Amino acid sequence: MQESTFADLAVRPRGWIEVIAGGMFSGKTEALITRLRRALIARQTVQAFKPRLDERYEAAFIVSHSRLRLETQVIDRAEDILEQLLPTTQVVGIDEGQFLGPGLVAVCRRLADDGRRVIVAALDLDYRGEPFEPIPHLMAVAEYVTKPQAICVVCGHPANFSQRLTADDRRVLVGAEGLYEARCRRCFVPYPVPPATAR
Ligand SMILES: [Zn+2]
Repeated sequence: MQESTFADLAVRPRGWIEVIAGGMFSGKTEALITRLRRALIARQTVQAFKPRLDERYEAAFIVSHSRLRLETQVIDRAEDILEQLLPTTQVVGIDEGQFLGPGLVAVCRRLADDGRRVIVAALDLDYRGEPFEPIPHLMAVAEYVTKPQAICVVCGHPANFSQRLTADDRRVLVGAEGLYEARCRRCFVPYPVPPATAR
């Protein structure tokens, strides 16, 4: 059996996982686009993916609220990435990762194990302020985690929560403008509002 030497390990491509996790309006998609653009400037080969259910903007682009955009492939679940991946791809970007199913963690680990840089932007909390699986799991196995904060629209402090403004208890509600606003811990009210605290 051949043993790997330190020299072998040094030349083998080194992969890792980066997670940009935050609430609505925290700028996580913009951060993803910025990192992918910098990779492109560095002449690395990039593929970007996003879930089909996000049809807010043009289907074939990742678009931030400030209209930064990047060409992307639309998929239904995380496993589709492995089928659509090109052998030459060095950097994989994924937007709205919380909508790609429980297989996302295994797919990201596989990509990183194969020597690729994986960057995932995702909501880490749902509209009730509870962990949005599988993102907490992905954050645990990632090398780098960034948690950008939005600004609380009520008090102006850093905002980690997405306040839903409509009477709808579906977990997935696409389209942010008018349906959600950024709130800090103190101003956030989980919905449905418990009767005792209803105002
Ligand atoms: Zn606040």
